[in-house]
Amino acid sequence: MALFKAPLEDIKYLTNEFIDTSKLSDVPTFSDMTPDLTDAIYDEAANITANLLFPLNRTGDEQGCTLIDGAVTTPDGFKEAYKEMTSGGWGSFTCDPEFGGQGLPHYIANSVDEMVVSGNISFSIYMGLTIGAYNAIHKFGAEELKQQYLPNMVSGKWSGTMCLTEPQCGTDLGLIRSNAIPQEDGSYQITGSKIFISAGEHDLTENIIHLVLARTPGAPEGIKGISLFLVPKINLNKDGSLGSDNNVVCSGIEHKMGIKASATCAMEFENSTGYLIGDLNKGMKAMFVMMNSARIHVGIQGLALAHASYSSAVDYAKERLQGRSITGTKQPDKPADSLIVHPDIRRMLMTMKSYTEGSRALSTWLSLQLDISHHASDKHVRKEADELISLLTPVLKAFLTDIGEEVTSLGIQVYGGHGYIRENGVEQYLRDARICQLYEGANGIQALDLVGRKLPTHLGRSLRHFFHPVSNFIEKNQSNPELAPFVLPLAKSFGRLQNATLFIAQKGLSNPDEAGAASTDYLRLMGLVAMAYMWAQMAEQAHAKTGNMTETFYNNKIKTGLFFMQKVLPQTSSLLSTIMAGSTSLMALDADQF
Ligand SMILES: Cc1cc2nc3c(=O)[nH]c(=O)nc-3n(C[C@H](O)[C@H](O)[C@H](O)COP(=O)(O)OP(=O)(O)OC[C@H]3O[C@@H](n4cnc5c(N)ncnc54)[C@H](O)[C@@H]3O)c2cc1C
Repeated sequence: MALFKAPLEDIKYLTNEFIDTSKLSDVPTFSDMTPDLTDAIYDEAANITANLLFPLNRTGDEQGCTLIDGAVTTPDGFKEAYKEMTSGGWGSFTCDPEFGGQGLPHYIANSVDEMVVSGNISFSIYMGLTIGAYNAIHKFGAEELKQQYLPNMVSGKWSGTMCLTEPQCGTDLGLIRSNAIPQEDGSYQITGSKIFISAGEHDLTENIIHLVLARTPGAPEGIKGISLFLVPKINLNKDGSLGSDNNVVCSGIEHKMGIKASATCAMEFENSTGYLIGDLNKGMKAMFVMMNSARIHVGIQGLALAHASYSSAVDYAKERLQGRSITGTKQPDKPADSLIVHPDIRRMLMTMKSYTEGSRALSTWLSLQLDISHHASDKHVRKEADELISLLTPVLKAFLTDIGEEVTSLGIQVYGGHGYIRENGVEQYLRDARICQLYEGANGIQALDLVGRKLPTHLGRSLRHFFHPVSNFIEKNQSNPELAPFVLPLAKSFGRLQNATLFIAQKGLSNPDEAGAASTDYLRLMGLVAMAYMWAQMAEQAHAKTGNMTETFYNNKIKTGLFFMQKVLPQTSSLLSTIMAGSTSLMALDADQF
């Protein structure tokens, strides 16, 4: 059976030792966060996930959501769990204290988020969407709207959605047809059909606050004519109490491969009252500003499911007896040795482990950059962190969710045929992980964003914010013999990344298809180098052993990191080759030749 085992030791190490939080020491709500306090938060998050959310993971998958007469019912236990999680403040860590939030750092919230997602991703989506909508309203909403809507969203009384997708428009939001007609009182009447809306309708909260992209009459064509509106399911009376129905109807729910307990809804808006968020025709700007944290969140979903699959696979590999070790019997008292003695099973488990821990280091470090970009007292430091995040967000989203798929598939392989059987629970992780590569911008689009927008931004300045620390680290440690097994492979793959960058910059200018053809390989190459940089730093700390973790923990980090450097990182060599092979063979066939 699948099991839930929170990666508490690793999370505590990353928060308390790995990342450097000194740039945030003067943020009042952060300075209370002593290691003892954060450890206590993590312990309780693990506890509540294990006892409340994880038991609903499989039942939620089997039961799914139901739609009757426009009302969506979530699986048994979700309503009670939602109440307990929101009343305990588990969804409002990073929210502004002015509206009832806790004002805590993302690096803590995202570590908690990882545990919650690995216990029950479908459940986590309802809470995650609310924070996404909160962020947009908080950043761009008029003061009156914030006062009216945010306190109940932060408390969990109301939830939120993001309504972008329409039948004819997924990636290309310039094709949006929903329209918004201005009214004399300053509000708008919104009409349109949205599809695939997560948490669009459900029974967890008494109101749902939809953020809807639509265009006003005469707005410019395409992406430049889109605005963002707040559209409540139920209108508010002047005193803030719930009033009339706002003609927001769920006309269908999707039957999906995974995340079955998350309601994915078709929504109809019919002259529904909406309120502008941000400036007219600047809806995409509002969306993009909040996308960094939403995409990091989806990357963490990939990591969380990878971890869930890994911890179940390790447990199974120790228990399951099959065959004898090729170097001689290891468990003579048993009819066979356990799976974990076999090198090929080790290959899979070590791949899963090194990807998962590397992803966690990367996401914790990037979450810290998010906090620095919001809160550091020096504006240059804030700006640099912001540019670094903007560069690495597509990498984190796509690389970690690709890893989520690869690792959850390896998890099934470790179980053999038993992994394919539903009752063992690990096939659900793969089904659940698959969506993460698609929503919040499909991974191919993340790669195009990286190559087409993020690399050239500010003439490559964002790239330098990443390249400089990596080359400084290599220079500082290149003659340290203890770290050589980390620094040499890092330097080699970093060189490959630099070559690939140059190739794309030169070729992409004359033929954009070259950049498009290289983009997915390039994103993975950058993800691997970023992960190698994390592993090399963890190895440096582990060799120094100056922190509070056990000797075993540090030794484990060095061994796992070495596996990554020797057995995973060489992928960068073939990635560089495929990038350098250019676009010719890829574009050679005419469409009718396929
Ligand atoms: C379970 C689920 C939940 C979702 N939740 C939400 C939600 O809450 N709110 C919401 O608004 N939407 C939501 N979505 C929609 C999701 O974000 C879209 O499915 C996604 O953006 C891709 O759009 P599409 O499916 O129309 O694919 P398309 O845009 O048709 O893309 C198909 C393929 O073509 C590629 N492609 C498209 N354009 C290009 C290009 N220019 N260059 C290269 N490749 C390209 C894509 O990468 C993709 O691989 C959800 C979807 C699902 C399945």
